[in-house]
Amino acid sequence: MNILERYHAMEYGPAPEARNEADAWLAGRDFAKALFIDGAWKAAASGKTFDTSEPSSGKLLAKVSDAGAADIDAAVAAAAKALPKWSASSGYQRGKVLYAIGRAMQRHQRLFAVLESIDNGKPIRESRDIDVPLAIRHFIHHAGWAQTLENDFPDHKPVGVVGQVIPWNFPLLMLAWKIAPALAAGCTVVLKPAEFTPLTAILFAEICERAGVPKGVVNIVQGGPEAGAAIVNHPGVQKIAFTGSSEVGKIIRKATAGSGKKLSLELGGKSAFIVFEDADLDSAVEGLVDGIWFNQGQVCCAGSRLLVQEGIAEAFIAKVKVRMSRLRVGSPLDKNTDIGPLVDRTQLDRVKGLIAEGAKQGAICWQPDAALPSSGYYHLPTLATGVSPANILAQEEVFGPVLATMSFRNTEEAIELANNTRYGLAASVWSENVNLALHVAPQLKAGVVWVNGTNMFDAACGFGGYRESGFGREGGREGMFEYLAAKLPVGPVIKPAAPSASPVEQADGSLIDRTAKLFIAGKQVRPDGNYSLAVATAKGKLAGEVGLGNRKDIRDAVAAARACKAWPEATAFNRSQVLYYLAENLSGRAEEFAARLVQLTGATAKAAREEVEQSIERLFLYAGLSDKFEGRVHQPPARAVTLALHEPVGVIGIVAPDNAPLLGLISLIAPALAMGNTVVAVPSERHPLLATDLYQVIEYSDLPAGAINIVTGRSAELCGVLAKHDDLDGLWVFADADTCAKAEADSIGNLKRVWTGNGRSLDWASNDAAGEVFLRRAIEVKNVWVPYGD
Ligand code: NAD
Repeated sequence: MNILERYHAMEYGPAPEARNEADAWLAGRDFAKALFIDGAWKAAASGKTFDTSEPSSGKLLAKVSDAGAADIDAAVAAAAKALPKWSASSGYQRGKVLYAIGRAMQRHQRLFAVLESIDNGKPIRESRDIDVPLAIRHFIHHAGWAQTLENDFPDHKPVGVVGQVIPWNFPLLMLAWKIAPALAAGCTVVLKPAEFTPLTAILFAEICERAGVPKGVVNIVQGGPEAGAAIVNHPGVQKIAFTGSSEVGKIIRKATAGSGKKLSLELGGKSAFIVFEDADLDSAVEGLVDGIWFNQGQVCCAGSRLLVQEGIAEAFIAKVKVRMSRLRVGSPLDKNTDIGPLVDRTQLDRVKGLIAEGAKQGAICWQPDAALPSSGYYHLPTLATGVSPANILAQEEVFGPVLATMSFRNTEEAIELANNTRYGLAASVWSENVNLALHVAPQLKAGVVWVNGTNMFDAACGFGGYRESGFGREGGREGMFEYLAAKLPVGPVIKPAAPSASPVEQADGSLIDRTAKLFIAGKQVRPDGNYSLAVATAKGKLAGEVGLGNRKDIRDAVAAARACKAWPEATAFNRSQVLYYLAENLSGRAEEFAARLVQLTGATAKAAREEVEQSIERLFLYAGLSDKFEGRVHQPPARAVTLALHEPVGVIGIVAPDNAPLLGLISLIAPALAMGNTVVAVPSERHPLLATDLYQVIEYSDLPAGAINIVTGRSAELCGVLAKHDDLDGLWVFADADTCAKAEADSIGNLKRVWTGNGRSLDWASNDAAGEVFLRRAIEVKNVWVPYGD
């Protein structure tokens, strides 16, 4: 055997990380008093505990206090008591506390990493080099946001007491993603870690004690779903930030509907890892290993669907198999380990079950020939080929070390396959042609896209999903907005529409009595049911009739909005010109619209003229902002630039209020259109003629067919149909409280982004009812990571 052969034949010896410090910490703590409430350590009021055990052996690590409703009450009360002082403290004060937390964590970096690996099972290389450093960076990064809050977020205030519920896959990192921005914004928190992984959060609470976090600002409670639900449903909480499964995310969306609580959901994923034939295949294989086998695949943004171009598929899969057979499965504390155990037996059983079902549905599941440790919840890395797009392994989040593979012929097919999922968290694109990669990235329905890379994260760059991967972003500027409430000019309470007391008296004869149709796909169309709704003047006489839209009309309108590609694909300058035309054309008919307002609402001639003038001004404003509300470029510590692109949400439903029926409608439609969304609008139920009069203005303004669709009728009923429609991406509702609550509850099918006034309208005439606050709701931020260097 020559030296080279000898070198290749050499085996790795074990290189265990010392665990004595962690064991001493475990032995020295009273876990029956593990609730950190109001700066003190408490037992659960019920005295109950739950077990946390070590995934690599199944051995019990600790019996931890299990919080119940009374403990959550105490934690929320402590957070509420601490809120006024904390939110009133200067940004510098809060920044110093955040920085002190980061520095204290740095001093205990090793203990955090070892504890995390013991409790979760993740390889020490990952907890030491990724989880813990990223968590520390998060706190230090957010110290700066605290200090610059007033400058960067004028007209915003802290949202209040925040309830935060997190999963077990990145226990410390998820805690950091939640707590750092909340504290920077001036909020106080009640956080619940997952029941499988309570330990690093307990250590973190100790750090808070030492870093001078005022009592009650950070409260950490331990427990399972019941404790989570008690936080979610607590009336003293103003915002819920949740990371976890889409299933629980939907429960939470429903539970908070109508409560007025702000909500962000970071949920599951089924992210595509796309390899084009011109990719550097060896790099792509390394990327893939990281993409799917990082943390045993228990990663929300895991690249669990490999899409590889046909011509290279065979060669690429062969390389992947060779690499898989070299992955080392073993103790999480061994520095050479690539793959540790799954977090718990239930998770192991779930993964096995999904693989068996995938195989039943035709997938060929391959695993390297390697032995597993004799105890613990280990699973071999698994490659599934022959996977049809409908196979369970291609559709369901496995949350384990399982890669589903499919091939594609051309770019269009790659994009189509990548988007063929109900999720939309992340994607990875591999090609040496950066033009191609940057052509594909914007077309992927995912909140994060990595070009020639994967799993790149940074505190300055937002992270979060589209579709059933949830809504809201964590990290950076966009993450800060999740903990801030924008100043909006609150308007009148909206009462439910009275059952129609049809105005029967004929009008004064000077008006043409006709039934205005619906406006769908650029055409005026009769409502499906052929019914109409009588519209009254301010004096209770018949002003005219409008079509009574129904479920089918909404479906047609959504289909038309979805089919309209010309608008979202138009340049921002182009959109701006069209909005200017709209303003011009409305201006040409200002007198007519003012007369209509007087007739329908009883406004004075002066007030009516003002409302029309302000509507024109608002169109002008959004025309001007179309090409200015742009994304940013981040320069994270990695050798990469991150392009935070502003993309339209997609198809947005808008239910407009009765007050200021022209200005209210335009104040909602214009920002949505400005950002490239297509719109299905339900105008004021009482004064819909202001909207139907707009048809001609729209027709003369070069707006592509389907960009705006208007369905008149009963607002509450049509809003319900919109909320349940799974091809609608967003829904803005200014209606009565009950309709708003239902819109939120009924939106869970596809987790569309819902914005409601919670039963109140806005003062549309106020300058605060316009601008960035609205534009922000009309966009998704997509972070595209582009690495550079040789
Ligand atoms: P899970 O939804 O079962 O639990 C998450 C948390 O919610 C836990 O703390 C749990 O105790 C709590 N919980 C459970 N039921 C609840 C209820 N009814 N009300 C309130 N709280 C409740 O998820 P998990 O199994 O712990 O974590 C895995 C999931 O998390 C995966 O789907 C993964 O994709 C997702 N995840 C998403 C991100 C992201 O940023 N998008 C990050 C990490 C993990």
